[in-house]
Amino acid sequence: MIKKFNIQSLIRPNVAKMKPYSSARDEFKDFDSEMIFLDANENPFETNVNRYPDPKQQKLKSIISKQKNIPSNQILLGNGSDEVLDLIFRAFCEPSRDNIITLPPTYGMYSVLASLNDIENREVLLDLDFQPDLDEISRTADTRTKLLFICSPNNPTGNLIASESILKLLKTFNGLIVIDEAYIDFAKEESWTTKLNEFPNLIVTQTLSKAYGLAGIRLGVCYASKEIIAVLNKIKPPYNINELTQQFAIEQLQNIEKLKTDIALLNDEKESLLKALVQVNFIEKVYPTHANFILIKLDNAEKRYSQLLQKGIVVRNRSSQPLCENTLRITIGTVSENKKLITILKTLK
Ligand SMILES: *Cc1c(COP(=O)(O)O)cnc(C)c1O
Repeated sequence: MIKKFNIQSLIRPNVAKMKPYSSARDEFKDFDSEMIFLDANENPFETNVNRYPDPKQQKLKSIISKQKNIPSNQILLGNGSDEVLDLIFRAFCEPSRDNIITLPPTYGMYSVLASLNDIENREVLLDLDFQPDLDEISRTADTRTKLLFICSPNNPTGNLIASESILKLLKTFNGLIVIDEAYIDFAKEESWTTKLNEFPNLIVTQTLSKAYGLAGIRLGVCYASKEIIAVLNKIKPPYNINELTQQFAIEQLQNIEKLKTDIALLNDEKESLLKALVQVNFIEKVYPTHANFILIKLDNAEKRYSQLLQKGIVVRNRSSQPLCENTLRITIGTVSENKKLITILKTLK
């Protein structure tokens, strides 16, 4: 059972006390009407982007809200999910006092952001199936543990974190649980956003950088209780989502059918790649995956990495990560890119 969960007690004291910056566009709410705007020192001549963007991204959020069936006041947008993650640190973690728990091998940004914010990162390794060790997590957490990061599907391993484990953690962990769903659109499993109303300590992050094919516009999304979103809104840079990004995202989100076709194609390609990879003689293990990449273990990662590079193919060597000795992570490409990869792999000596 969730002990009486009190979000206020988790917020950094200075953040709880501070007054947010009030921008010109914040003070005047009626964003779309035909007014003469002489309030923000903008240049009046039309360039399509001479005005500051909507700091609340109301139109974009209302589209996301409808598509995901989550109210706008439970959504925060960031300049990539990396900004969202940084805001979560800055809202809840007191530098040089609080700590977080991460579960390596996993996405590298959690530990980078912990260092940047001077927060101790307590690492609890995943087990050999890349699943969390719940007992060790509970032994590692103390009263200053504010955040637990769970990446599912996990990068670089590709697997989903078992939902029974996540449920147990949501019910027992005393801080906030951040589930990073950067790759959820490639998985058949449903998003944890469906559980937001049940768990006030749950934060889900997603991104338009992977399945949506929009890495270049930098748009990350955070879903949480309206109380958590209000804290993050208070500390975010006022104009963090630029006008070009807002316009482009609004346009692209109209075409959700094409997105589904692309994802299905990439998932089909993944299945053929998985089959082809197991037949390459120096590949020792092909890990199951629910994302748009495949982790493979091979005889000599460094050697194979350089050989591929010489043939013009760039993959990611993940060998420095714990439990990932001699592994490469390969992103699913186009049909012809994947064919070329397999052809080259089969010729390597
Ligand atoms: C790629 C990736 C992100 C980064 O998302 P941006 O929105 O592009 O900043 C976040 N989390 C994981 C696990 C990723 O692999």
